Parts: sequence; C-alpha cells; structure tokens
Amino acid sequence: MIYTDTRDKSVKTDFKTAVVGGMNEKTGGLYIPVEFPKLDKSFLNKNPEPNLRDIAFEMAKPYVEGEIPENDLKKLINDAYPFPAKVSGLDPNSYVLELFHGPTCAFKDFGARFMARVMSYFNRNEDKPLHILVATSGDTGSAVGSAFHNVPGLDVTILYPEGKISPLQEKQLSTFDGNVRALRVKGTFDDCQKLVKTAFTDNELRSSLRLSSANSINISRLLPQSFYYMYASLYVKNRAWQYNRIEDPSIIMVVPSGNFGNLTSGLIAKKMGAPITGFVAATNTNRTIPDWIATGDYNARPSVATYANAMDVGAPSNYERISAMYTLDDVRHLFASYWLDDSGIISSIKDCYAKTGYTIDPHGAVGWKAWSDIKNGAMAELAQGKKHDYTKPGLTPNLPDWADDVISKKNAIGVVLETAHPAKFGSIVEKAIGSKPIIPDRLEKVMRLEDKSIPMENDYNQFKSWLLENLR
Ligand SMILES: *Cc1c(COP(=O)(O)O)cnc(C)c1O
Repeated sequence: MIYTDTRDKSVKTDFKTAVVGGMNEKTGGLYIPVEFPKLDKSFLNKNPEPNLRDIAFEMAKPYVEGEIPENDLKKLINDAYPFPAKVSGLDPNSYVLELFHGPTCAFKDFGARFMARVMSYFNRNEDKPLHILVATSGDTGSAVGSAFHNVPGLDVTILYPEGKISPLQEKQLSTFDGNVRALRVKGTFDDCQKLVKTAFTDNELRSSLRLSSANSINISRLLPQSFYYMYASLYVKNRAWQYNRIEDPSIIMVVPSGNFGNLTSGLIAKKMGAPITGFVAATNTNRTIPDWIATGDYNARPSVATYANAMDVGAPSNYERISAMYTLDDVRHLFASYWLDDSGIISSIKDCYAKTGYTIDPHGAVGWKAWSDIKNGAMAELAQGKKHDYTKPGLTPNLPDWADDVISKKNAIGVVLETAHPAKFGSIVEKAIGSKPIIPDRLEKVMRLEDKSIPMENDYNQFKSWLLENLR
C-alpha cells in the first residue's frame, strides 16, 4: 500500500515510514493510504459473519502488504486481540457496541495493541530504542502504556493534563515502571498535544532521539479501529430480521468523539464495504466539529473540561483526515451531528438505565442521547424545517441522506459505541443512577499501585531538556 499526506498529495511512502514517523514532519500533515480496498462480496456476505480476528486479518492485509508477511500478521493480530468486541441489543432499534473488554477498559486498547505490535515488528533489527511520545486526555495514555509495557526496543513517555483526568485514569497512567513513564503537565490536553507536536518538528531533538507518536494521528492506531465497525455492522445486518424484524436495515454508527480518530476509522470501514449507512458524530461541549458541520467554518478552540473527559478536545487532529477523505457537503449527507452538555450527560445515563436497564458511561451517554433524540422526533422536526439552534445542545441543522430511514421507512438501527467501562467513571454514574458500577478486577488491581508520575511545566524548552537528559 502507498501512503500519502493530507497536506501534500505528491508524498508517497510505505506503511513503515507512516507508522514510525507518526506524521510527516516536513509538511505537518498526516499520513493516509491512497486507497481503501473493498473486501470481497463473498467475505462480506458470510452469515454468520467471520469473527473479529478473521475480519481484522482480511482488513489489515492490503495496508501491510509487502511489509509484514501474512503469517506474521496473523500472529500479530491474534496476540493483539485476546478479548472481544461485544454487540448487544438495547431496544428494538438500538444496539450497544462494547469496546471496553481490553486490559484498560476503553476502546483505545484496540488501536494501541495493534500499533505496539506493528512498531515492535518494524523495530526488530534496530539497536537504538524508538521513543513514543503520547499526549492523552485520559484513556490514550493507559492504553498505550499497557500495550507497550515491557515490549523490547520501545520506550514510552506519556503527557497528561494535571488535575483534568479522573483519579482512576491517573492511576492507570502513572503506575507503570520500566520502559513507560508519565509526565503530569500543568496545562490542558491541547497544551500536552502541542508539546508533542512541537517535539516532532524539532530537528535538533530528532537528531538525537528516534521519536514516534502514538495518539490517534498514527495510522497504525486508526486502521485497526475499523475492524470492530466491520464486525458490528455485519453482526447487526445478519440479525436485524431475527431480533429487530427489520429486513433491510440502515445501520447508523453513533460515535462519541473527541479527536475523531474513532469516527475516522468508521469511515475507513465503510469505504472497505461495511454495511454502514451513516454516522452520528456526537460530542460534549467541545463542539468544534458540530459547529463546522452547522456553519461550514472550522474553528479550533481551547478545550473545555466535561464529564466525558476523554472527549475534551477543542482542536481534533483527525479533522484533517476527514476533510481529506470527504468534502463538507459529503459529510453533511453522511453524518448527523450532535452535542451534549454535562447536565445532559447525567440525564442520559439516567434515561438509558431507566429505559433499557443498561449502565452506560459518560462518553457512551453522549451517543445514547444523540440516538434517542434522533429516533424520538429530532430528525423528523429537522425534516419539517424546524431547525434547532446549533449553539444549544442537540442536533445540528443538516439533514443526512438517511433521515428518511429514521422518519418514515423506520429501518434505521443505531449502534452506539460504548467507548469505556462505566466503572472508570463511577462517581459520575453514581450521580445519575444512585449507585456505582462494579469495578472489574483488572481496574481494581491498578488502584493499589504507587503513583510514579513526574511533574512538568507547560513549557517546551523545559520539556525538551527533560527528554534530552532522561532518554537515550
Ligand atoms: C478517546 C476516547 C473517546 C474519543 O475518541 P476519539 O477517537 O478521540 O474521537 C471517546 N470515549 C472514550 C472513553 C475515549 O477514551
């Protein structure tokens, strides 16, 4: 596969360069494959659908062809995914796709574990370590730290905004030893991301350290997230008649979003043939993308702290990839877009629990509320010309092509991505439904480990000196 650059289409490179480089430091652009090959009809039409690992293998093959032999790829995938993505029904036209069954209980395990194994594969003949710098608003750091922990030849430095992530998330980041460490930065997530981005464009630093990224800008994190979209959409398609009495479902993926890596992966799955009709881009108060879809103006802004803190991103880096793959007009036809404030998040957790018995986390809750509003009249009002004020929580005023599937055909099925286990946000869930979710063993263990995080000012020169003194 040939990879190009979102800012310079004349760039042509291979998978290894795209993965190890993270982004193109010459242009500041992001790597993207030149094509997204469709899977064979015979594969897509299997009923029952292939399992997640077989889907992962088929989907990954074209992107690594000529660089990772099939047998190695198969091993890599089996090692990355010893846990499932689970789809379960919520009500007659909604499903939840649980993406929290990995070691750190968030969907980022899917991307991070694939990326770690790919990087380790590409680093197998090097004698200098590859230094991964990663900015996190919560779950990225722990997924990356966990995925890379004790992988030979790789070294990880995590930056997180001090005081802006939950105590449990902080424990998950700050308790690693050996080749993984965490810096707690006096700033926001955007500040952390800026420090990392500046490091990548710093030639002096790059001449002494081999650097790579691990946030959702890395293509090797984005591609594997497309696997579960394919799996879930085939799963729902194959069961829509049996479970929903819907013959020809219009499957809508509802994606709680921050940096928009997850949603971009959904777009990749659709291009590769997943039976997905459309998407709901659901955000918290950080509504840069909903505002872009509503007004046509893209205005990155500082992030605001919310209950769905892994989505507190004011300058989503994958806007660049989305706008390289689709025009704004395409996006308005394909996406509904929705945003929700903190009081809406609490009432959504409550509402979901009351109506379905399902305990949803604050991120999934943004998606659940978006989908229930859409199917309970918000889309119909929009079609009748009653446009909602996009500066208030709710649906942006564009009418997607699939609006009619919701309003009159009634064959739309929403699949809400549940991106984290609710126990990671126990006190917020408790505020909504009066009790805390049961904590899985793998989270409970982390709470007992010692915090080893290192304090860091929001200052590039200090960050750079620290890197040069402490990494080799
Ligand atoms: C990272 C994260 C998100 C947002 O995903 P993006 O790919 O950044 O849009 C949503 N929910 C949870 C729990 C996350 O950790």
